[in-house]
Amino acid sequence: MKTISILGSTGSIGTQTLEIVRRNRDLKVAALAAGHNIRLLEQQIREFGPRLAAVWSEEDAKLLRTAAADLDVEILCGMEGLKAVAACAESEVLVTAIVGMIGLVPTVTAILAGKDIALANKETLVTAGHIIMPLAKERGVRIFPVDSEHSAIFQSLNGENRSQIAKILLTASGGPFRGKKKEELENMRVEDALRHPNWSMGQKITVDSATLVNKGLEVMEARWLFDVELDQIQVVVQPQSVIHSMVEFADGAVIAQLGTPDMKLPIQYALYYPERRYLAGDRLDFAKLGSITFEEPDTETFPGLSWAVEAARAGGSMPTVFNAANERAVRKFLRREIGFMDIYRIIRDCMDAHRVIDNPDIRQILEVEQSVYDMIESRW
Ligand code: NDP
Repeated sequence: MKTISILGSTGSIGTQTLEIVRRNRDLKVAALAAGHNIRLLEQQIREFGPRLAAVWSEEDAKLLRTAAADLDVEILCGMEGLKAVAACAESEVLVTAIVGMIGLVPTVTAILAGKDIALANKETLVTAGHIIMPLAKERGVRIFPVDSEHSAIFQSLNGENRSQIAKILLTASGGPFRGKKKEELENMRVEDALRHPNWSMGQKITVDSATLVNKGLEVMEARWLFDVELDQIQVVVQPQSVIHSMVEFADGAVIAQLGTPDMKLPIQYALYYPERRYLAGDRLDFAKLGSITFEEPDTETFPGLSWAVEAARAGGSMPTVFNAANERAVRKFLRREIGFMDIYRIIRDCMDAHRVIDNPDIRQILEVEQSVYDMIESRW
């Protein structure tokens, strides 16, 4: 029996994680945290019986306590609630399926409590990889990637010597706007950006895929997870999303992981590693597929990727600025307060205004995050 907790149980990754729990009798849920979707969280508590649950606001916590009054569950709220879920005593693995930098402090809390991490929340590694990775090593905590690309790299590295990695080939679908020109992007609406060709995901990551910011965040995530130099990571557009990523080794051999686009595979692999369990779903049919094609990413039209690499090279607090600016800009775009191209303008403004702090600690990272939000709110 393996006991898990989930931050962000009501989202895309969170609900797919619970689908895996539903299909496997040897997984048990100790604690769940969600933001505002208390109706779904209540259903999840009834079905999976965690002893602890958390929501963000005190008001939602009160409503949930009333709704779940007949159940034996403790309900907390705010950052204290997220931290309690992260460090829940009964749990062995924390699935970080929460979206955004809010996941940082609870992830650190979980590592300090010795929990293995199934990591979907890439924003945490982007902003604090220099803290998270050494801390996990020090505490003997394993970090299993859930992001499909990073899981593919992790799978391609099975049995290999990591010092013989020549490069990582990070694949990208190109997102819903692949092939479009800058002028066309100016008028793209929220519903256009949310129409991803291959993956069904949460709203923020879907917009990040449209700007190519997601691929930039993934480059930073890969760098920390696999301890490689930025120059060893190459992004390749592979529009069919069949090859989930590849590793080239010192002798020129390239090993890849392929499959249909289904996040349940990397989630399940992270929970059961190194075991491979049966997973229902479509299988690749190569004859039907016909071809797999490759392109260079269009970083001229979609600067999200090149600016992420620029932020990673600047190092220190700059990845936090890149990430926080993007988070706030995407939120504004989803609320229809700004246009699609304004996401880039905001990120550029914030990066240009920032003086890098080297080796920031968690407090400094959170201060930089807040200062970015303040700057955006005062200008946009
Ligand atoms: P969703 O938007 O679908 O879900 C986000 C989850 O986080 C929801 O459960 C939401 O709760 C919860 N949440 C948000 N804010 C808070 C808060 N303040 N306190 C507690 N819970 C909160 O996102 P995804 O599942 O798509 O993505 C989650 C993470 O996984 C992201 O970092 C993303 O980049 C990464 N990822 C996602 C993939 C995917 O296929 N979806 C693929 C690879 C990585 P509620 O809805 O109740 O408000």
